[in-house]
Amino acid sequence: MVKAVKFGGSSLADAEHFKKAIDIVLADPSRAYVVDSAPGKRFKGDTKVTDMLYACYDKAAKGLPADKDLAAIRERYDAIVEGLSKMPGGEKLKGFSLEKEFDTIAENLKKDPQRDYAASRGEYLNGLVMAAALGFDFIDPQETIIFGKDGLLDQRATDEALGERLKNVKHAVIPGFYGRAQDGSVKTFSRGGSDITGSIAARAVKADVYENWTDVSGFMLADPKIVKDPEKIATLTYRELRELSYMGASVLHEDAIFPVRDVGIPINIRNTNDPEDEGTWIVESTCQKPQYVITGIAGKKGFCTVLTNKTLMNGEIGYCRKVLQAFEENGISIEHMPSGIDTTTVVVHESEFMDKEQRVVSAIHRLAKPDSIEIESDLALIAVVGRGMKSMRGTAGRIFSALAHANVNVRMIDQGSSELNIIIGVTNSDFEAAVKAIYDIFVLTQL
Ligand code: ASP
Repeated sequence: MVKAVKFGGSSLADAEHFKKAIDIVLADPSRAYVVDSAPGKRFKGDTKVTDMLYACYDKAAKGLPADKDLAAIRERYDAIVEGLSKMPGGEKLKGFSLEKEFDTIAENLKKDPQRDYAASRGEYLNGLVMAAALGFDFIDPQETIIFGKDGLLDQRATDEALGERLKNVKHAVIPGFYGRAQDGSVKTFSRGGSDITGSIAARAVKADVYENWTDVSGFMLADPKIVKDPEKIATLTYRELRELSYMGASVLHEDAIFPVRDVGIPINIRNTNDPEDEGTWIVESTCQKPQYVITGIAGKKGFCTVLTNKTLMNGEIGYCRKVLQAFEENGISIEHMPSGIDTTTVVVHESEFMDKEQRVVSAIHRLAKPDSIEIESDLALIAVVGRGMKSMRGTAGRIFSALAHANVNVRMIDQGSSELNIIIGVTNSDFEAAVKAIYDIFVLTQL
């Protein structure tokens, strides 16, 4: 059994948390490959080290001195190293210092400030601490995680480089969040991207499990900010996760499943502060029945709809393509497209659409020649997701009667033919009430 384990920023924010992470790794010999984030927030209102590094870069890029900011970052690492060295097992850190590393970073920021390089140092430095504290090898992703010309991860080149590098390495720490661009410079993933590195590492070492350690015990059925103490999801499939994280469930980076998905490595979300909890399992497929008909609810506010109306639209071949072309020409991505006989509605992100709306309207008129166009805003979308909904009668009925009882007007409905999810559009201000009503009808009434 081999496990790749990733610890998030909150799990490595200070010496106490770091120690918990170290103990978790050492408690199970199969936890052989560790991916680390940069130190996150220690308390409410604290600043993540990654944000402090971005601030350093901003100053350096303007030619201003960033020494004080860098010194504040150094203090955070020094506190971690000092704290750890006083704890049991801390002898490994005797004589360990990041002094030279900080000198190099200061020099590079002065000489040639690069944004991704600056941001990546959070994970890099934490990786050095973790490797020393565990006695594991340190593997630099700048040599082993490769981005292609298109700026996206080059999975094949990465499999090759990282697989080769780790071939004879039994225990390693690999910093999260970054790799190498085509020109050799550091390139980061988007924020929260250490989750992707964890997945890449799991794939490269052909791990049996990818454990992702964070500060919650897995995915909740609904957002705890909306539903008080929601139930935990024990097992969900990659596809369910895709639907939920795309619609805002944010425990794991939404791109983190891709490297492990096509090799079938399960992801286990675990809580560093409660290591006994089994967490949530994310798997390709399972015969385990979900606890409830629905697996989870997620949603986002801030969408708008563009409805085009054209008599006899249904018989006009190519009509929808022409409407969509108007969005494509303006570089706007589309969320959903529910259609009627004479109408078709395109749902888009308000923030992406707002500045370009009149250009899109005239493009639709030019290309598709509709009778009229109506734009509506303030739409929130809620995804009710669950493999248990397939072939189950009455699910949609229960959702809509719960919403009616909660006085929520349904503005849009979209059910994919896979029956994995039902998307419901409600007014932004009804969003929370709608999520609560759906949760209650499926979970509370079954308890
Ligand atoms: N440290 C990076 C961030 O704050 C990446 C990560 O934590 O996954 O976004």
